[in-house]
Amino acid sequence: MSDCIFCRIAAHEAPTKIVHEDEHVIAFDALNPAAPLHVLVIPKRHVASLRDADADIAGRLAVASARVAREAGYSESGYRVLTNVGSDGGQSVAHLHFHVLAGRSLAWPPG
Ligand code: AMP
Ligand code: ZN
Repeated sequence: MSDCIFCRIAAHEAPTKIVHEDEHVIAFDALNPAAPLHVLVIPKRHVASLRDADADIAGRLAVASARVAREAGYSESGYRVLTNVGSDGGQSVAHLHFHVLAGRSLAWPPG
């Protein structure tokens, strides 16, 4: 989708710092980080949210998220992986993304 900012990032058409990439998935630094590590992991093909994800892409995003946290050095200290779905879930970009947050003690429950 040409009007989707994350599709443009996946196509290398928008500036961002990419931290991981393979055939299906790309991971990059979030624009307004909420923690010292805040990476977004997305499918390269347009999927609107977790509502529309199949097991293949959901699994790929989960495994890539753990890899990003591990390679950033947070495997032992811990991290959080989450995805917001829809308006009450706080989703602001309509292209599926897993947030990977680490580097501080993360409060629970979220707001
Ligand atoms: P959500 O509210 O769950 O949809 O999260 C949207 C995320 O996308 C936030 O972490 C934003 O900082 C991030 N974001 C929005 N636009 C960009 C962009 N152009 N490059 C990198 N991150 C972005
Ligand atoms: Zn998209």
